[in-house]
Formats: sequence, C-alpha cells, structure tokens
Amino acid sequence: RTPILAVVGRPNVGKSTLVNRIIGRREAVVEDRPGVTRDRVSYDANWNGRAFTVVDTGGWDPEAEGLAERISAQAEVAVTLADAVLFVVDATVGITDTDEAVVKVLRKSGRPVVLAANKVDDQRTEAEAYGLWNLGLGEPFPVSALHGRGSGDLLDAVLAAL
Ligand code: GDP
Ligand code: MG
Repeated sequence: RTPILAVVGRPNVGKSTLVNRIIGRREAVVEDRPGVTRDRVSYDANWNGRAFTVVDTGGWDPEAEGLAERISAQAEVAVTLADAVLFVVDATVGITDTDEAVVKVLRKSGRPVVLAANKVDDQRTEAEAYGLWNLGLGEPFPVSALHGRGSGDLLDAVLAAL
C-alpha cells in the first residue's frame, strides 16, 4: 500500500500551505484564521518517483477543550494511521507550550517525525530555525511553504522516514 504522511502542528503554522507545496496543487484550504481544516483530508503526492499519501489536519492542541478538542482528536487519529509524521512549527514564533505538548504525544506514538521549521522566507530568518533543535526531535528543516524555499531537502527527509 501507499505510505502515509500525516502533517500536524498548531493552528496557523502553515500546514495546509505546506501540503499544497508537497502535492504541487492548491487543494488544501489555506486561511488566515485558525481552525479551518477540521477533519483529516488526504491527497496523492509524488516525490522523485515515489508515491505517497499526505494527510492535512486541523490545528493540534492536546490540551484543547470543546470544538478544538475534536479537531485535535482528528490529528491524533491521523498520526495513528500514518507511517511517518511531518511536524510543522512556525520558526518566526518559536517553540510554544502547545508545540511541547504535541511533541509528547508524538514521542508516545513511536512514529518517525520530520520537523519542518516553517515561514523561513529568507536567509535572515534561517537562524531562528536552529532554536527548534530544543524540541529534541533532531534536525529542523527550514522551509518556506509559501515560496518553496527548502522544500526539496524537506521532502528528501520525508521520503527517508516513510
Ligand atoms: P495551517 O492552519 O497550519 O494549515 O496554516 P495555513 O497553511 O492555513 O497558513 C496560515 C497562514 O500562514 C496563512 O496566512 C499563510 O499564507 C501563512 N503562511 C503559511 N506558510 C507560510 C510561509 O512559509 N511564510 C509565510 N510568511 N507565511 C506563511
Ligand atoms: Mg490548515
């Protein structure tokens, strides 16, 4: 069967933009306002001749309540069904408590995790990505989902993890 990559992270970090970048089409809904992707949405992707399924999820906050809790539950299901996880963090914001909470759940899942330091639109922002080493997930891959910067190296790492 086709390997599955789950794309998870807090609301608004650029998951859907990154999914569009990965699939090379603008199908995942990008919004300025958090919480737009409420379910798990699957797309066919291909990189260097290898096919895989990429799953976009809503914002994940393991400590959320109410509607946000239900959206989070979908992200957790996506991880359970995935062969590897692409964890997206906003490098311009840095590590938040919510990111730390997600890391705990990811560790428990035992799935291989690739860390995307998103919104690194230029060389100047690149230094901020290195702070994400502190998440303890290994090398952060600086990327700009918006402009495509760094997405090749990120996808190489994703394929190695799948
Ligand atoms: P999601 O909630 O994690 O799926 O985030 P979205 O993909 O919907 O993006 C949230 C906002 O961040 C939108 O306004 C995007 O245009 C913006 N965004 C996403 N990726 C980047 C990026 O690489 N650089 C910048 N500057 N903005 C980005
Ligand atoms: Mg989204």
